[in-house]
Amino acid sequence: METAKLHVKCVNTKSILCKSNLPGTDYCANPYIGCTHACKYCYASYMAQISNHQEQWGSFVDIKSWEAIGKPTKYYGKTVFIGTVTDAYQPCEAKYGRTRSLLEQLIEYEIKIVICTKSDLVLRDLDLIKMFPKALVAFSINTLCDDFRKSMECTVSIERRITAMKACHDAGIQTACFIAPIFPKITDVNAIIKKVKDKCHFVWLENLNLRNDYKSRILSFIYNKYRTLYQLYYDIYVSGNISYWYSLEDEIFKFCKVENYKYVHTAKDFFLHPQSYSDKSLIVVNCFHYK
Ligand code: SF4
Repeated sequence: METAKLHVKCVNTKSILCKSNLPGTDYCANPYIGCTHACKYCYASYMAQISNHQEQWGSFVDIKSWEAIGKPTKYYGKTVFIGTVTDAYQPCEAKYGRTRSLLEQLIEYEIKIVICTKSDLVLRDLDLIKMFPKALVAFSINTLCDDFRKSMECTVSIERRITAMKACHDAGIQTACFIAPIFPKITDVNAIIKKVKDKCHFVWLENLNLRNDYKSRILSFIYNKYRTLYQLYYDIYVSGNISYWYSLEDEIFKFCKVENYKYVHTAKDFFLHPQSYSDKSLIVVNCFHYK
């Protein structure tokens, strides 16, 4: 995927921790505004409008500075999701280190952190991440095909992500493979699970939802590159026929049964299954939602 000219600026923000309504999460923290991974399907691209950016999503990043985090007792035992509308380990983190600085500030609060990334730069901070109780690092992967990845994202290769996942897992950190978003008939869910099964504790599944301006972008991409799948995408995303997802759920459920993986279907506990942390087998968490 081609990269546009990058616009970088520094911004001040009052508080880095914001209340979150994500299931299983108390607070979220986004050390950057914008994300140069520039995924074509990015659910967070609305942030460009909210933050008054005229530039195209993926072509700007604001580097945040924030005031010292006050009232530490307020956060004890809470779950903080780092990177809900940005990737906290996108390339600029190597230079600006805002995520590392955030981890250094949070370390004294005994909070649970969840980090979801498409980068192996997270390995740089394993020393800190290991110090958090029940830290969880998730790597987002929705294909094993690097050509498809390149057509959708400006990210590191799938192999690098899987290698980083193994390194986190080997370091004793709770690790997840977030298979998201699942593209109908393109994302091979079972193949990805097979590939990562001994490199993570959880597999999270999320189906592709299309809304806002990226709906037409993805549909025209499918029309141009995967013409034979266009009717299926039209049925799902224009006609609202969701039967494909039910048949996929059924297929994954049967696959997990054969492979002896624990399968959980929930829309409530999207990212975390703390009660299952002691479970030794791979846990596949289906978080499909249809709105
Ligand atoms: S990595 Fe996440 S936040 Fe960044 S562009 Fe991709 S989907 Fe959006």
